[in-house]
Amino acid sequence: MRKLEDEKDTVYSCSKCGLCQSVCPIYKITKNDCTVSRGHFIMLSGLIKGDLKMSNKLNRYLDLCLKCSACSKFCPSGIDVVDIVALAKAEYFKSSSWEKFISFFQKIFFFNIVLKSKNLFTKEIESKKFDKKVLYFGGCKNKLSGNSYVVKILNSCGIEVITPDFDCCGIPFFVRGDLENFDNCMQKVLKTIKKYGNIDIVTTCASCEKTLKSYKKWDSDLNINVKNIFQYIRENHLSLKLKEKKSVTFHKPCNIENFQDILWILNNTDNLEYKEMENYDECCGLNGLTKLREYKIMLNLFKLKRNNIIESEAKTVLTSCLGCETALKAFALGKYKVEDFSEFLAKYIID
Ligand code: SF4
Ligand code: SF4
Repeated sequence: MRKLEDEKDTVYSCSKCGLCQSVCPIYKITKNDCTVSRGHFIMLSGLIKGDLKMSNKLNRYLDLCLKCSACSKFCPSGIDVVDIVALAKAEYFKSSSWEKFISFFQKIFFFNIVLKSKNLFTKEIESKKFDKKVLYFGGCKNKLSGNSYVVKILNSCGIEVITPDFDCCGIPFFVRGDLENFDNCMQKVLKTIKKYGNIDIVTTCASCEKTLKSYKKWDSDLNINVKNIFQYIRENHLSLKLKEKKSVTFHKPCNIENFQDILWILNNTDNLEYKEMENYDECCGLNGLTKLREYKIMLNLFKLKRNNIIESEAKTVLTSCLGCETALKAFALGKYKVEDFSEFLAKYIID
């Protein structure tokens, strides 16, 4: 299991340039260096060298990080702050009964009761047979929505879809620093993948895609090929025409890697009017939904995103991450509709 200590060179490689401050949505609100990567790395250097002890206060600063990676994309030292924060959180997790309780509750209540009972009512459809086959990693999204929209889209591309019963990819446990439960999730997913041999894995959720790709950090011998569904749609030049005129905006999930494909679809679909919202790529604040003690900061963040959606004058906001979808829906309050982009395409384009 990886530890914060193993990444000390990465932590020390922060040049303290402060560029991360200019893109961090939390720093823009707090103006406090302890809440952005530079401050995190100064504190974590102290922790690794033994000058500082892990404390509630330090954990609280780490918790404020939205794991949006905006700073990592901008960082001249190329540091993946989400990874480092999770390893630091793991140090706190070991001695925190509260964090352990939240993890336990999430595992038992959300994953074992809510998702599994929802799954009883979702419809799975049979894929058509084609020479080219892919494995659909639906994770939690599949338990809520079934596989029909993915099968429809990929069958239209001449691709057969295999839908094994995958559980969560483990991201909620990883960001909390619960590495044991993250590892359990990862091992279960990999065990299923290995049954199917060398086959492409397809996701519709940006966070699942990023997490599955991150498994290589834990097992350097791992050889899996993970793709997003939008890549297939673009590659296969599906005839994209909505059955009726629609006006939409798009919230770009922080974890998405192939936004160019999404943009291409948004701009090349007949009857679809795409209205870019201001700061379309700024974090929705999902991580804040669980940070009740920081509600003032988080409300500020949600309000900004909500106003940008409303000002775009689109009736529907699309996204491609289950987490973003949940956060956007929580604050829509009837002002706009939130839909998953792949579900939207399957509903309005493909017969
Ligand atoms: S941008 Fe990167 S190198 Fe610069 S202060 Fe932030 S984390 Fe450190
Ligand atoms: S990941 Fe996002 S919230 Fe966290 S420090 Fe970087 S920019 Fe700020």
